[in-house]
Amino acid sequence: MSTPCIFCFPSPEKTLFSNMYAYCRFDDYPVTPGHLLIIPYRHIISFFDATNEEQAAMMELVRSGKEYLDGLIRSFVSVKRC
Ligand SMILES: [Zn+2]
Repeated sequence: MSTPCIFCFPSPEKTLFSNMYAYCRFDDYPVTPGHLLIIPYRHIISFFDATNEEQAAMMELVRSGKEYLDGLIRSFVSVKRC
């Protein structure tokens, strides 16, 4: 029996944002602080195997992730300045 794909069965508590085609979460093994993953619900090998709708949905989550990280940075900087 093969091991199920960890990305196809997202943990609800680790999901930051989602839409119909994909979800966004922090990487468990971040390369840098704020390392987010945008993962499609459909098991595909590459971004370029995604449909136009899936690619658009993933880009929407990229924008949401950037806004989320920008907010974290702003709150961190404002705390440090007090
Ligand atoms: Zn998968």
